[in-house]
Amino acid sequence: AIFYVDGKFVASDRAVIPVDDLAVLRGIGVCDLMRTFQGKPYFLKEHLERLEQSARAVDIVLKWRLEEIKAIVLETLDRNREMTEANIRIIVTGGSSTDFITPQGNPRLIVLVTRIPPLPPEWYQNGVKVITVNQEREVPEAKSLSYIPAALALKKAKSLQAVEALYVNRDGFVKEGTTSNLFAVLNAHLVTPEDKVLKGITRKVILSLAGKIMTVELRPIPLTELLCAQEVFITGTNKGVVPVVKIDDTTIGDGRIGEKTRQIIRALDEHTLNFQKE
Ligand code: PLP
Repeated sequence: AIFYVDGKFVASDRAVIPVDDLAVLRGIGVCDLMRTFQGKPYFLKEHLERLEQSARAVDIVLKWRLEEIKAIVLETLDRNREMTEANIRIIVTGGSSTDFITPQGNPRLIVLVTRIPPLPPEWYQNGVKVITVNQEREVPEAKSLSYIPAALALKKAKSLQAVEALYVNRDGFVKEGTTSNLFAVLNAHLVTPEDKVLKGITRKVILSLAGKIMTVELRPIPLTELLCAQEVFITGTNKGVVPVVKIDDTTIGDGRIGEKTRQIIRALDEHTLNFQKE
């Protein structure tokens, strides 16, 4: 693959950044992940705007206008034409810094285009198990480079035959997954947390579509309430809508994919098809 790294397009095995970049030294930087449908980036504008918000939240100043980043993304994609569909990762590093900790206005921009890994069909046919972890993300509004707690929580999830870990804060509210947002059907309303979560682009699209199907509530969800939900699902760019049928040892609803979840998956599929036709 060809990657864009700090001003140059280079072969992926030649893609390097200086070791004194704060991304290497401290994990300081932000990123965003999007995907293509029929070769076109899906929700590019929204992802770029979120990249800007993430950077602002961790005090990194973007040196580029979003239009410039967009042009670089499109060119990187063009240079990887042999991939019919791709994941696109945009990374903005903290850059080199004289005090080795504070971003000083010279971030590096990286764009990676990679193949989309296949998703297990059984996730969508049967639903999945997720676990809960008592953790909170440090800067919840930002898609930060640092995913250490996420990686550890996911490893734990996998060891328990679960596909995702949901963060539960110290007050007992469930926020989101390590790389996904959370939705629950509670008393026939679609509920998703709003505060101190990453505002997922998939979440945003679903919120715009769900109003036709049911009423929507943006509010905190206590874990005790979530475990009694009729339906639960998680959403993300890299997995779409994944129905959840088990949380820790509790079966959700009757343990099968719920009707509202199916309706929302259909609405999202239709929306994606229309995007492809544009
Ligand atoms: N929440 C977190 C913490 C994430 O890392 C992600 C995506 O990686 C999401 C939610 C889902 O966001 P999106 O739908 O934009 O992929």
